[in-house]
Amino acid sequence: MPVTDVVVVGAGFAGLHLLRRLRESGLTVRVLDEAGGVGGTWYWNRYPGARCDVESLSYSYSWSKELEQDWNWTERYAAQPEILAYLEHVADRFDLWRDIELGVRVESASFDETTARWLVRTDRGDDLTASFLVMATGCLSVPRIPDLPGLDEFAGEAHHTARWPHEGVDVSGRRVGVFGTGSSAIQAIPTLAESAAQVVVFQRTAAFSVPGWNRPLDPAELALLKKSYPERRAMARVTEGGNPWPGATRSVFTVSAAEREREFEDRYRIGGFILHSAFTDLFTDADANELLSDFVRDKIRGRVEDPNLAERLCPRDYPLATKRMCIDTGYFEAFNRPNVRLVDLRGAAFERVTTAGVRAGGEEFVLDVLVLATGFDAMTGALLGVDIRGRGGRSLRDAWAGGATTYLGLAVAGFPNLFTVTGPLSPSVLSNVVGSIEHHVAFIAAAIDHMRERGLTTIEATAAAQERWIAHAREVGEGTLYPRADSWYMGANVPGKPRMLLPYVGGVGTYRKECDRVVAAGYEGFKLSA
Ligand code: NAP
Repeated sequence: MPVTDVVVVGAGFAGLHLLRRLRESGLTVRVLDEAGGVGGTWYWNRYPGARCDVESLSYSYSWSKELEQDWNWTERYAAQPEILAYLEHVADRFDLWRDIELGVRVESASFDETTARWLVRTDRGDDLTASFLVMATGCLSVPRIPDLPGLDEFAGEAHHTARWPHEGVDVSGRRVGVFGTGSSAIQAIPTLAESAAQVVVFQRTAAFSVPGWNRPLDPAELALLKKSYPERRAMARVTEGGNPWPGATRSVFTVSAAEREREFEDRYRIGGFILHSAFTDLFTDADANELLSDFVRDKIRGRVEDPNLAERLCPRDYPLATKRMCIDTGYFEAFNRPNVRLVDLRGAAFERVTTAGVRAGGEEFVLDVLVLATGFDAMTGALLGVDIRGRGGRSLRDAWAGGATTYLGLAVAGFPNLFTVTGPLSPSVLSNVVGSIEHHVAFIAAAIDHMRERGLTTIEATAAAQERWIAHAREVGEGTLYPRADSWYMGANVPGKPRMLLPYVGGVGTYRKECDRVVAAGYEGFKLSA
């Protein structure tokens, strides 16, 4: 049976970086991924218009200055093929392929208390043993296909955005239906509309979206931006969202209406998530949030020509950003095209999928292609997709039956030598996730180094430390508006999933300080033993 120091599940941003970093510590590492290539989310999400909504210069590794300088991002926000090419380049450049096994699904992993090793089993029936198991499985990697009556009977093609055929789908001259109006749909719809005969958007909940103002980066600008890497990265490590801009310092209620509008407008013109950081109370005070929500709704009205249609596209039933705000390129403008139609499922209730298309509000929409941009079983789906068993054979599925429990989003009590990268109750999806991945990889590698230097064999979160962290994360969350939305942050998009705020909302800077304190106190809250 192959024996290795570390098994890493997942060959995306996290898995590739882990492999490189753990090798540096002299460890043997095996990275396993179900996909046919590296890239994780960027391997799977090939739908038309897929691109990152974090700027390229931030959504990239910071651990190689040479890589930073050599790689030339071509757009402010990179498209999926470019990010995938970047990750493949990383795998080539750092000689990673030889320790990566693709097309293999990890089915189970159990901790053997007598040997203090993980036994990992794959769908090929292969077994591996490892001292450490690191789940680098991503926060948004298990697609959610809703239970739409009749879906199986649809005679056309139906594809989830996160399982888009690699050969592409030619929609030219065809009628396309899209379920969903989250980040994936918002990117896909304008691109689909350029070639499809018709795009019918089935909207259940309208989305807040602002322009990213994506554009090509010319060589002179890119050169200038590359010089700013050290400052950008340093700032991103201390700010709330892990972004390279300063956090807010004042309440929205301390400024005049004119000053407030100017602040919102300036940030809207820059584009993207910088709008979130305009004032300190946008996510904690419903009235403050409503001011920003009103501002964005007005912008939507300015982008959609038909005033009635604009009203139907304006979100009203949750505070802005308690469902992740979307960053778009021409989303609302797409509805000005004659070939794009909105079907508001609140007014025209969904009835069923038929062989010919979709029935809603008493009307049948005849379609050739159905796009399911219906999201993910976020943050816990991939972890619970593997039958992980810790001390006493207890399964993670049992341990999390009432909701995810972790210490710092990195470890789970009762599961020694298991680490989760950007796990539940860490900032993860509320941050620039590449920065959060790098932080977790550094933490995990340093913990393993620490153990090896001292001849220790197991590290495990204590139940007491885990309870304290959960209570702290819950308290911070309850002080915000996030629990008010039925979002995937709350697990609310998956029927039967326990409702809890899955990411830690205390901010990247605060979280990093807490992790540093834990390490400085000799891995406080972890039990280390020989
Ligand atoms: P999502 O935000 O969860 O959106 C899913 C959409 O599908 C929602 O509009 C939802 O409506 C709708 N939906 C689900 N079930 C439905 C049903 N039975 N009938 C009608 N509508 C249904 O998923 P996503 O757009 O894939 O985005 C998920 C996350 O992935 C994002 O928030 C972001 O973090 C990440 N992402 C990032 C990028 C990027 O970097 N640009 C791109 C894509 C995704 P309800 O709101 O009513 O549930």
